[in-house]
Amino acid sequence: MAADPSTLAPLDLTRIRQDFPILSRQIRGRPLAYLDNGASAQRPRAVIEAESDYYQQHHANVHRGVHTLSQEATDLFEGAREKIRRFLNAASPREIVFVRGTTEAINLVAQSWGRPRLVPGDEIVITWLEHHANIVPWQQLCEQTGAALKVVPIDQRGVVDFDAYLAMLGPRTRMVAIAHVSNALGTVLPVEQFIAAARERGITTLVDGAQAVPHQRVDMQSIGCDFYAFSGHKLYGPTGIGVLYGREAELSAMPPWQGGGDMILTVSFERTTYNALPYKFEAGTPNIAGAIGLGAAVDYVEGIGLERIARHEADLLAYATERLGAIPGLLIIGTAPEKASLVSFVVEGIHPHDLGTILDAEGIAIRTGHHCAMPVMDFFGVPATARASFAFYNTRAEIDALVASLGHAREMLG
Ligand code: PMP
Repeated sequence: MAADPSTLAPLDLTRIRQDFPILSRQIRGRPLAYLDNGASAQRPRAVIEAESDYYQQHHANVHRGVHTLSQEATDLFEGAREKIRRFLNAASPREIVFVRGTTEAINLVAQSWGRPRLVPGDEIVITWLEHHANIVPWQQLCEQTGAALKVVPIDQRGVVDFDAYLAMLGPRTRMVAIAHVSNALGTVLPVEQFIAAARERGITTLVDGAQAVPHQRVDMQSIGCDFYAFSGHKLYGPTGIGVLYGREAELSAMPPWQGGGDMILTVSFERTTYNALPYKFEAGTPNIAGAIGLGAAVDYVEGIGLERIARHEADLLAYATERLGAIPGLLIIGTAPEKASLVSFVVEGIHPHDLGTILDAEGIAIRTGHHCAMPVMDFFGVPATARASFAFYNTRAEIDALVASLGHAREMLG
C-alpha cells in the first residue's frame, strides 16, 4: 500500500548530497547544478564503493569456479539479482535477466520473442512518445518479419490517447510496447490500464521503464506486463548494466538471443542444450561489477524510500514548472497532468543548444536536443528542446540558479 505522503519525513538534502561526491564539484568556477538526470544520474559513494570493493577483494569470473573468489563473486552477483527481484516485486530471480541497459533489453525481446513468431500482417503497437530505443528495434523486427508498426497518437499536452489505443488493438496485434514515463515530455502513462487492456485481448506487453524506476515504486505484479526494461545508470547505478524483467512463462518459451559460454548446459558439434533461466539469456562473462553496483544502488534508493523520493521530486517539478512558466517567451513542452520530474522547454528566439552552452558557463548542466525522441519533436514542431530533469538530490536553489541563468541567456541572445 502506498504511504500517505503527508506522513513522510522530508529528505535531509545536505546529508544526501554529501553521499554523491560529484555534486560538490565546481564547474567553470561555479557550484555544479546537475539537472541532466534523465540522461544519466550521478552515483552515491555506496555504489562506487561496492564496485571498488568487488574489484579489490572478490573479483573472479562467476558461475564457473570452485575456488573461493569465484564463489564470492557469484554470491555477490546473484545477491544483486535477488535485490532487483525484490525491488521489482518479480516472482522469481529467474525472471531477472542482466543486460547492458534498456536498449539491449528491448532488442533482446524484439529478436528473441518477436523474430521467430511474427508473420506478415501481425501488428506491434507503440506510442508517439517513445524513445528511439522503443521504436527502432520494432521497426527492424517489422522489416524482418513483415509485421506492421502502429503508433498511438498523443495530444497537445503529451498525453497518450487511450481511446485511440483501444481502437488500435485488433486481432492481429501481437505486441504492445510502451514507455512508462516519457523522457522527452515527462508524461507518466497509466501503464496498468494500458497493460490490462492488452492482456484481456491476449496480447504480449513490454514496458520501457527507463525513466520510471528512479522516480516511483514499480511493481511487476500490479503492472502485469510480460516484459519490463530499465537501465542501471539512470537509477544511480553503473553504466553498462540494466535489467530485463520477463515473465517466466514468456522467457521459457523464447530461444536464446546470443550464443556462447554460460548460456549452455551441454555443447557438442551435433547439438547444444541451453541453460536454465535466466542464464539462457546471459551469454558470455557478464558485467559482474555493474550488477553488484546496481544492487548497491537499489539498496541506497530503498534506504531513502521511493515514496519520499517521489514526494520531493513532485515538489521540485511543481516549483520548476511555476518558475519556468513565468519566464516571458518560455514555452513548456509536455504539460500532462501526470508527469515525472522533468521539464522540457523552448525559449523564443534562442536555440536550445545556445541555451545549454550559456547555462554550462554558469555551472548548470541541462540536456538540449531531440532526446532520442525525434517523432515527439516533429509532433510539437520544434527541432529540439532544453530539458531540466531532476533527481531527489536536487534543490529549489538549483532551480533558482537555472531560472537566473535563463534570464542571463535572454539578456544576451533574446
Ligand atoms: N527509454 C527511455 C525512455 C530512455 O529515456 C532511455 C535513455 N535515454 C532509453 C530508453 C535508453 O536507455 P539506455 O541508453 O540506457 O539503453
